[in-house]
Amino acid sequence: MKRITILAGGVGGARFVRGARTLAQATGAEITVVANTGDDLWLTGLRVCPDLDSIMYSLGGANDTERGWGRAGESERVSAELTAYGVGWPWFTLGDLDLGTHIARTALLREGLTLTEVTQRLCLRWNPGVRLLPATNDEVETHVEIVDGSGRTQLIHFEEWWVRHRGNVPTRRFVHRGLESSSAAPEAVEAILSADVVLLAPSNPVVSVGTIIALPGVAAALRTTAAPVIAVSPIIGGSPVRGMADICLGVIGVDVSAAAVGQHYGARTQGGLLDGWLVDPVDAGELPLLERAGIPARSLPLWMNTDEDSAAIVAGALQLAGEVRGP
Ligand code: GDP
Ligand code: CA
Repeated sequence: MKRITILAGGVGGARFVRGARTLAQATGAEITVVANTGDDLWLTGLRVCPDLDSIMYSLGGANDTERGWGRAGESERVSAELTAYGVGWPWFTLGDLDLGTHIARTALLREGLTLTEVTQRLCLRWNPGVRLLPATNDEVETHVEIVDGSGRTQLIHFEEWWVRHRGNVPTRRFVHRGLESSSAAPEAVEAILSADVVLLAPSNPVVSVGTIIALPGVAAALRTTAAPVIAVSPIIGGSPVRGMADICLGVIGVDVSAAAVGQHYGARTQGGLLDGWLVDPVDAGELPLLERAGIPARSLPLWMNTDEDSAAIVAGALQLAGEVRGP
């Protein structure tokens, strides 16, 4: 299993990828990460890519481990100036160091580089130890259809729904704006097709992994790759662990359980995406249900508190990949 391709969201994705990197340092595997770009947005004239940056900062050792997102040692002087001008979102503060990244990215995009090329340039500085790719070079943004106080439907950007409203507003559906005229980045598709194993991180199954899979070309690549596709449950004991995956799953009508999310992805042998599914031991009671749904599943501890925890999960996923691929 030399070439490992991982589909990932931001903070949860970064925890998982750090474990994969730890493992790869011992085995010499090469890791490619295909990151969600549905959370991306234009804000105060700058292109902001939250999930790409969460992974880049975390793997570059520059992330704020206490706050859980953004850069360590951050200040917010520029954001205070923008707020004084009434520009931007006061509830979506961008740190000064972080703004440096967004200015650099926007400058490179305006020079005509693709987001894939820009990400590669930004990563030169951080030596993440993995190849980091955006899922698409196109602007496909997740928006959310909500019902406002006066009963009118409104479409707001995902980050407004998530950060400002904490998902706590009547919600109809998620919309991928720009999806029809988009395609997955060729490099991302190639990374899925040429991998020895594909892993879906225990990232948000709706607005992280779900958004990547919705991009034209991704699901087809997952269905046709010769590599086993193994995923890790982001739900442990009916809880989303960290974040609000429970609210997102509710919006698309999927139960908040490891088995329901596994069945939502589906078995590759039955038109779905998965060759294997890992659940936490507290969910081991759901294994027979998963087997009946045609999804080979195993249980092992899925809490990612340290890089070693995550590395053990990745090792378990690779083992399952070997088992489902057969001799
Ligand atoms: P975001 O883009 O920053 O929101 O992060 P991701 O989408 O990559 O990951 C968020 C999801 O990771 C959460 O919704 C949780 O369900 C899941 N998660 C977070 N911590 C853990 C953990 O320790 N173990 C597992 N199995 N899942 C986790
Ligand atoms: Ca995200």
